[in-house]
Amino acid sequence: MKNTQVSKIIRATAKIILAISILSLSQGCVQKQSPYHTESNLIMGTVVEITCQDRQAIHAAFSEMEHIERLLSIYDATSEISQLNKKRKITASWKTIQLIKKSKTLNTLTRGAFDITVGPLTQIWKKAIEEEALPHKSSVKKAKNLVNAQGIEINEILMKISLSKSGIQLDLGAIAKGFAVDVAIKKLRELGITSCLINAGGDIYCLGKKYDTNWQVGIKHPRAQKTVKTLSLANRAIATSGDYEQFFTLQGKRYSHIIDPHTGYPADSGVVSVTVIADDCLTADALATSIVVLGKTEGEALMKEFPEVEAIIITKEDLD
Ligand code: AMP
Ligand code: MG
Repeated sequence: MKNTQVSKIIRATAKIILAISILSLSQGCVQKQSPYHTESNLIMGTVVEITCQDRQAIHAAFSEMEHIERLLSIYDATSEISQLNKKRKITASWKTIQLIKKSKTLNTLTRGAFDITVGPLTQIWKKAIEEEALPHKSSVKKAKNLVNAQGIEINEILMKISLSKSGIQLDLGAIAKGFAVDVAIKKLRELGITSCLINAGGDIYCLGKKYDTNWQVGIKHPRAQKTVKTLSLANRAIATSGDYEQFFTLQGKRYSHIIDPHTGYPADSGVVSVTVIADDCLTADALATSIVVLGKTEGEALMKEFPEVEAIIITKEDLD
């Protein structure tokens, strides 16, 4: 055999070997992609689902969220918020202080529609929803007069929070889940996790992508068991608020758990459901609740303050 023929055979063989090794390398990649696991846990009265390839990371995220529940829950007498509601002055953790500071800013931006001192009103309306009966007008008026987020005083240097008036009661139900999701995501990022989905009863964060594809998140129809729209998201948060979560109906009128602090009565803005997509879940959660109170026109005006945020607002007319 001539030298040229030998070298042709060698080159052809080398090409085949290279092709086979590229093929087996890419097959190896597919095989190496570890499967996703989904685990659920009851946190803040909600089933929280975490989907991730790393079980240890899932457990770390759950314990961060449980820690936030222990700080903020009004159903736990030992939480910082319960202690503040009881004693009017506490030394608080940095996390609680930062969250309350943000809540006060949101109260200003929403011109009072978002107010974490809505506690006296949410207590009255929680009972009303349970009993399916309207509360006395006088008790609503009395409770409404106690609502004032600016009556929360923060001393960041001494790490103290105090309430300016007796009877002020904080209820962080509108943002606690979103905040807990953000804290868990921060922990996952610190652990080097680049792909995960946390769903805390509709307060969702999509970390990275699932393999090479964005996470697919469906928006529920507020009145029917179907999906209105499916969003394709990566590194974005989403939260939905609406009048369909907790409510009762009396003489054809729906009374829900989202309260308009200006009237003392459940929000009656014509908005049925709001889905907010933001960079963080706290912002999404807070704005979703706020827009239910503000209504479509004022809600859209508020959105201009948050250029990176999108809102999908469904009104009563949209459902007709
Ligand atoms: P969400 O489901 O995130 O819209 O939050 C609803 C919860 O937020 C209620 O169950 C109350 O605990 C609380 N809440 C109700 N109305 C308001 C309001 N106007 N501002 C802040 N929190 C509120
Ligand atoms: Mg909310």
